[in-house]
Amino acid sequence: MRAFNFFRVLLSLPFVLRGAQAQFDTPPTNLTTGFVRLPHGTRQVSWIYSPNGIVIYDGDIVFGTIAEFNDALVNITHSPDDSTLSRRHDIPSQGLATRAYSEPPGGRLWPGGIIYYRYSDTNVESAASTEVNFAISTWTAAVPCIRFVRLPNDNKPTNGIVTIVAHSTNFGYCAAALGYTPTPMWLEVDPSGCGDSTMLHEFGHLLGLYHEHTRPDRNNFVKFNCNNVLSPKCCGSSCCGLACAFSIDPGHYPSPEYDINSIMHYPSWAFNNGMGSTLTDLSNNVLHNPYISLSPLDISRVRQLYFCPVVSPPKCNKACSTTPGKCHPTAQTCVPPAPGIPNPRLACSCRAGFKATNPGIADGDVTKQWRLPAPEGNFRVWVAEGVECNTPCTVSTGAFSCQEVTELAAECLHT
Ligand SMILES: [Zn+2]
Repeated sequence: MRAFNFFRVLLSLPFVLRGAQAQFDTPPTNLTTGFVRLPHGTRQVSWIYSPNGIVIYDGDIVFGTIAEFNDALVNITHSPDDSTLSRRHDIPSQGLATRAYSEPPGGRLWPGGIIYYRYSDTNVESAASTEVNFAISTWTAAVPCIRFVRLPNDNKPTNGIVTIVAHSTNFGYCAAALGYTPTPMWLEVDPSGCGDSTMLHEFGHLLGLYHEHTRPDRNNFVKFNCNNVLSPKCCGSSCCGLACAFSIDPGHYPSPEYDINSIMHYPSWAFNNGMGSTLTDLSNNVLHNPYISLSPLDISRVRQLYFCPVVSPPKCNKACSTTPGKCHPTAQTCVPPAPGIPNPRLACSCRAGFKATNPGIADGDVTKQWRLPAPEGNFRVWVAEGVECNTPCTVSTGAFSCQEVTELAAECLHT
């Protein structure tokens, strides 16, 4: 893990994808804070001026050029040389921003679902193309109605095109424009890359996704611990520094369900100062799944935005209770589906070659019994608490055993 890069960590989780935490490893210390007019109203944010002359706010969101940003800037409340970080409660005027920020259905999304992009030059292409191609293939496989069209390398700002640029040295983050605008847009990367999960996150921004943890209802699901955010910062209703990257944004167009597994949700360790997690669940537990890979709700939201048929997230069975006696004596008590699976969803497991006892429980009744795509274990039948499993499977041994029992989606391997 690199130093604590503010933005790169944002996007990556460690054990599945490479480059995990870089985004949050080296947070910028030269943050300025102030009120800025954004599409859904004026909001207090922190920003930096990247070496490419681009303004980046909320950790990793490209606003645009300095001139565009200055048009939307209402006032500055904290500057990097403001050593006291004293709070000022200037009340800004309301207004509309000139630039896309995040989009509801029918908003400023990529026309026809076609995203035009290019690299500024061959050096950037060498540095970023592997991760960019990974992000493009992953998003396109999940949302077949979008299409990425690569244009010849060029560094000249061009309306309606995302140009991928790199810092001359590792700057500590990657950042992307949010949604489509008919102006030049940028994706900024470090010469050493962003990490696969961070790149997935940045492409989520390009497609129009906000940060999930800044939803207005997030306090019902997660706890923000401002004391654990790296300094300089100030907490409370008037934020400054990195604390602003966690502030609630009323401009969201949220899904009905809060998505703790979203690629757009900061992980627990984002921008932490070593004193504890910056984001936890309401019981102060570390969040396990955000910022790893596309979640079912990430996919269904982008499908909705670009008029792809929406696929419902898989229905997973409840994890079992580890209290003795919950599983039937014919089943193993509440065990994980396979060794090495992160955050496994525990369940009662029939012994090899057996399934739920008939009559009354059909092979396809996934509320009572199911299989999982667990490595080397998808022939095993899992059952709900209390379900007896004394019926031999049609094929009771080997890799093809119990295939008559319905297999659930891979997401159901995890918590
Ligand atoms: Zn982001």
